[in-house]
Amino acid sequence: MTTDINDVREIGHWVDGKELVGSSGNTAPVTDPATGEVTGRVSMADAADARTAIASAKAAFPAWRDLSLTRRTQIVFRFRELLDRRKPELAKLITAEHGKTLADALGEISRGQEVVEFACGMPHLLKGAMTENASTSVDVCSIRQPLGPVAIVSPFNFPAMVPLWFFPVAIAAGNTVVLKPSEKDPSASIWLAELWAEAGLPPGVFTVLQGGKAAVDELLTHPDVKAVSFVGSTPVARYVYATASAHGKRVQALGGAKNHMLVLPDADLDVTADAAVSAGFGSAGERCMAVSVVVAVGDVADRLVPEIAERAAAIRVGDGTRSCDMGPLVTAQHRDRVAGYIDAGERDGATVVLDGRHVEPDGAADGYWLGPTLLDHVTPEMTVYVDEIFGPVLSVVRVRTYDEAMALINANPYGNGACVFTRDGGAARRFQNEVEAGMVGVNVPVPVPMAYYSFGGWKNSLFGDTHAHGTEGVHFFTRGKVVTSRWPDPATRGLDLGFPRNS
Ligand code: NAD
Repeated sequence: MTTDINDVREIGHWVDGKELVGSSGNTAPVTDPATGEVTGRVSMADAADARTAIASAKAAFPAWRDLSLTRRTQIVFRFRELLDRRKPELAKLITAEHGKTLADALGEISRGQEVVEFACGMPHLLKGAMTENASTSVDVCSIRQPLGPVAIVSPFNFPAMVPLWFFPVAIAAGNTVVLKPSEKDPSASIWLAELWAEAGLPPGVFTVLQGGKAAVDELLTHPDVKAVSFVGSTPVARYVYATASAHGKRVQALGGAKNHMLVLPDADLDVTADAAVSAGFGSAGERCMAVSVVVAVGDVADRLVPEIAERAAAIRVGDGTRSCDMGPLVTAQHRDRVAGYIDAGERDGATVVLDGRHVEPDGAADGYWLGPTLLDHVTPEMTVYVDEIFGPVLSVVRVRTYDEAMALINANPYGNGACVFTRDGGAARRFQNEVEAGMVGVNVPVPVPMAYYSFGGWKNSLFGDTHAHGTEGVHFFTRGKVVTSRWPDPATRGLDLGFPRNS
């Protein structure tokens, strides 16, 4: 079903503390994935709109940087209180544009809220070091200072949580932020901007710039943007890293994923099957930490595959506002692309144990539906194994030994998350040591780090070397300065042209 695009809600930018449409005149439709209905049209910035947003963030920076840490932190605390109280409103907006279930939307907000809570501790996190009398009458101290206006470019799959990985830390540390959310689900960012305003954040400290490549390109190249935090697919992450760093910016660009779950023959079958299904099909597989490949060692697959199939077949697919387990995919094009991978897997010889192409959803006929799909006997040459699918498709690769499994996992170009299911502590410890991935689970299928640790992958899952939030996040959004000072006694003065030595 489609609606006349002129009749729907306009979703603008957020600049100088208010929503505005921008000057480009370009818009893009926003749809409800559970109905196929166009529910909004979002402003799509051109370079001039982006420059307006950056100028506002630049103008707001000096006063925000100079506001006392106590006052800045009080605003972050107020934002946390408002978010905690009003998050059901935000969850509804996320479900309406992304499609995930309301419970899942609330879950992503809660994980994002943890970063706000971490950022409430910024006074402690920004403390420097001080050495008295490093040399005679010479003191040395280290301080960390904010960078200036910073940009965040985020993907469709976590419209609240991914921006929340970055902006609470950036703002609490004294930076101003321009957030460029995904054009597919842009409303969450405007809601968050309104919440900041209610919390007392001065205009210009948090800006939302809606749009696509034109907006991003201006952020990557404009001299007033000092750092870029990007999350999205690997080709775009690679481009963002190369372009922004060539323009002298600090960059962390988190890319795509292909997360493997290694199952050893001694694993608890029920626990493992529950985990594979939850991690493979939660949020319809549209999570960068979703499990997409089960690597089954020895004969465990013969016992595990039927257990996974039974659980996956019982998943209720439907409108995320009803009490379903799994919602639709984000767009019709993405649904068709994922279904195309199932076709290809079947053609290439994988066994389609459970086929999501013929799902009967609890929702409107025009929703972007695809049910859970389980493919067995997948081999590493198949496109269904090689590519990131980002949908509810779980592949099972059978291997003979642990070593064969590790060789497969470590040869994969992605390295976001990986997990092992076993009762053998020694094997788990070896896996933790050998696996080439940034986030590792031991009998935990989606090992997303807590806010006070840092989130990030290895290899093609992250360009740059700094992970999100935790102390690495604080480091990313601040730069260090070391001050050496002396308050000499006038009685000890005298010329000395030698290189300064310690005495
Ligand atoms: P995407 O790469 O298509 O888009 C991400 C952002 O980049 C959006 O804001 C988009 O507008 C912008 N963009 C798209 N094409 C661009 C271009 N050519 N130039 C400049 N900007 C561009 O990603 P998506 O489809 O929104 O999100 C899904 C992807 O994100 C998956 O690959 C997933 O694995 C990844 N992801 C990774 C993580 C992680 O932590 N590593 C987390 C969430 C999502």
